[in-house]
Amino acid sequence: MDFDGFFKQRLDGLREAGNYRVFADLERKAGTFPNATRHINGEVKDITVWCSNDYLGMGQHPKVLDAMKEAIDKCGAGAGGTRNISGTNHYHVLLEQELADLHNKEDALLFTSGYVSNWTTLSTLGSKIPGCVIFSDALNHASMIEGIRHSKAERRIWKHNDVEDLDRQLSEYPADVPKIIAFESVYSMDGDIAPIKEICDVADKHGAMTYIDEVHAVGIYGSRGGGIAEREGLMDRISLIEGTLGKAFGVVGGYITGSKNLCDFVRSFGSGFIFTTALPPAAAAGACASIKHLKSSQVEREAHQERVATFRKKLDQAGIPHMMNSSHIVPVMVKNAAKCKFLSDLLLDNYGAYIQPINYPTVPEGTERLRITPTPLHTDEDMDQLVEALSNLWSQCALSRAVA
Ligand SMILES: *Cc1c(COP(=O)(O)O)cnc(C)c1O
Repeated sequence: MDFDGFFKQRLDGLREAGNYRVFADLERKAGTFPNATRHINGEVKDITVWCSNDYLGMGQHPKVLDAMKEAIDKCGAGAGGTRNISGTNHYHVLLEQELADLHNKEDALLFTSGYVSNWTTLSTLGSKIPGCVIFSDALNHASMIEGIRHSKAERRIWKHNDVEDLDRQLSEYPADVPKIIAFESVYSMDGDIAPIKEICDVADKHGAMTYIDEVHAVGIYGSRGGGIAEREGLMDRISLIEGTLGKAFGVVGGYITGSKNLCDFVRSFGSGFIFTTALPPAAAAGACASIKHLKSSQVEREAHQERVATFRKKLDQAGIPHMMNSSHIVPVMVKNAAKCKFLSDLLLDNYGAYIQPINYPTVPEGTERLRITPTPLHTDEDMDQLVEALSNLWSQCALSRAVA
C-alpha cells in the first residue's frame, strides 16, 4: 500500500470541501488578553482573539499565575508519575477537595483533560456495569461519544434536548436495566441549554443515573461558578457532574464529581485515569486558585454577561445574523464551508480579528459558522472594529443580512 499517497489523497479531499484545518500560530500575551501576536511567514502581527474558551480571561489572572509560579518553585515541573505510582501531589488532593465542594458532592476525581474525563468515565461505567444502557443526547461532545462507543454498552441516541423522546426511549426498557442519561448543560456550538430539571424528573421516573457535562458552564454560571445545575439549584439531583479546568478556569485538566463510591469506582477501574502521568502540580495549583477566586467573585461573571449582551446588540444594529440562545456563545451563521473559511481568513489577514471557522464534522453541513466568544476583556472599541469588519465582509461576499 502507498500509505503516503493515501494520506495525501484524503487530505486533499478535506481541502476541496473547505474542511481542512489550519491552526493559527499564536502567542498569547499574559496581561493583555484577548490580544495576541500571530506568526505568519516569518513575520509577527498583532491580533485580537475572538474565539477563545478562556471565557473569563482567568488564564492571565494574577492569582492563578502566582499560584502556578509558587508551585513550580516548590515542586518543579512535572508530577513525576501516575497518581498511583508517586504522582499524587498534595495540590491534586487540594484541588479534588475544591471541586467536590464546588459541586456540593462527596468527592471528585481529576483527569489530564475534560476529554479524558468523559472518555474514561463513560467507557468505565458502560463496560463495567452489567447490562448497562447509555442514553446519549444527539449533540453530545466527541469525548462522550467515543467513551460510550469504547464501552461497548448498548447506546440509545435521543433527540437533542427532547425530554419526551428520552422518556419514550427509556420506557422501552424494564425497570431493572441499569440506565445512564448522558448530556451537556451548555452546548458548545449552538450555545443552547438543556432542560436539566425535566431530564432529572424523567431519570427519577426510570431510576436512571444522570451524567452531565458542564464544561462550557463551570466558572461562568451559578453564584459560585458551579455551572447551570448550580444556578438552577439542581446539583443534588445529578449523579455525576463533569467539567474542565481548561476553559473558564483558564488552566488545563478535567474532572468528575459525585458520590464517594462513584469516584472511587472510576479511580479504581478507569484505565484513562490509572495509566497516565498526573497533571503537573503547578496546573493543579493554578486551577485551584482560579476556582477559589470564582467561588466568591461575581465581577468576571457579571462583566461577561454584559459584554455578550452588548456584542449581540451591536451585531443586530449591523444586521449580522447570529443564532439566539441564552448563553455566552454567539454563533454567526455563514452556512457554507468554503465561505466560512474565506471569511475567517479575511478577518485574520485584513482586520487582525481571529475567529476560527467552525465546519463539518464539528457542526452539521450547511450550518457552518463563526463561533464568537466575547469575554469581559473585549472593549467596546474591539467590538466596534469587529462588527465593522464583519459588515464590510458581509457586503463584499453578498451575504444576507438579518432584519433588525
Ligand atoms: C472542550 C470540551 C470537552 C473537553 O474538555 P478539555 O478539557 O478541553 O479536554 C468536553 N466536553 C465538551 C462539551 C467540550 O466542549
